[in-house]
Amino acid sequence: MSAQKKLIRQKFRDSVLKRDRSRCVFCKATDNIDIHHITDRTLMPAGGYVKENGIALCPLHMAMAEKFDQSDGEASVELFNPAQLYRKVGSSYDKAVAASQRLER
Ligand SMILES: [Zn+2]
Repeated sequence: MSAQKKLIRQKFRDSVLKRDRSRCVFCKATDNIDIHHITDRTLMPAGGYVKENGIALCPLHMAMAEKFDQSDGEASVELFNPAQLYRKVGSSYDKAVAASQRLER
């Protein structure tokens, strides 16, 4: 991985953790927090490594967000659809794409 890519990923991680105060945005847990890409990185310009596309989640809620991607609109994980996750962190798909495009320049 190039030094610049590493830097972008580190900045992504740090900026999401700072905004979300290193806590799961759903349950406020602070252990084993990881960053979920709200829209999959393969579908975003430059991998979507921008805080507008990230959300801090605990392992349980991370699993639920990932389950949503594989579900057919299952009610128990509806809370984890991307539109809801974006709202939860004050972002949107459009904001995430715009910020990602700035990464490419
Ligand atoms: Zn949680």
